[in-house]
Amino acid sequence: MEQNSKEKVEYIRLAADLQLDSIVDGPGLRAVLWTQGCSHHCKGCQNPQTWDFEGGGLVPIDMVKDALDELEYHTGLTLSGGDPMFQPEACLEIAKYARSKGLNIWVYTGFTFEELLKMSKQKPVYLEFLENIDVLVDGRFILEERDLSMLFRGSRNQRLIDVQKTLESGNIVLFNEIEKESSDSFEKIPMYV
Ligand code: SF4
Repeated sequence: MEQNSKEKVEYIRLAADLQLDSIVDGPGLRAVLWTQGCSHHCKGCQNPQTWDFEGGGLVPIDMVKDALDELEYHTGLTLSGGDPMFQPEACLEIAKYARSKGLNIWVYTGFTFEELLKMSKQKPVYLEFLENIDVLVDGRFILEERDLSMLFRGSRNQRLIDVQKTLESGNIVLFNEIEKESSDSFEKIPMYV
């Protein structure tokens, strides 16, 4: 049975313990949650051990919250994987909690922003999750487009999307101020029209 976002989710499947003190998964000093499970299977993926949906371990969300309570100097929480979008209910719960503690939220996903919006029409939890994300690094890793000179992402197709400005404006707004705002617009979903 499909999980309703209003139902209480108690566990998240993780590939590792909460990582502390990362400076490469977004700006500032960050904690990183490595989720388990990904079906994108990008050629050249650096974490193929996170693909298996039965791998890693089930961890109580309350335990993750306790670990977040211990953070002192961190500016943000990054959800990566694996692909956090395969566990949207659990990730939403954690993102909301982290935000309530003043952390900004970055999420890495193999889906594009536009794909997630489409998915949210069937499963509104995706939109609710997006509403609690500051920056989405979107799109599959494409080996042929790999570019190690780019900030916080591996291949040129991936974007750092300022999610809140994007939802507000109906146009993709990139996080990096240096990058020009994209004129690409997406089909607004009813509640944003
Ligand atoms: S989306 Fe990320 S974790 Fe999944 S296969 Fe692609 S690079 Fe690997």
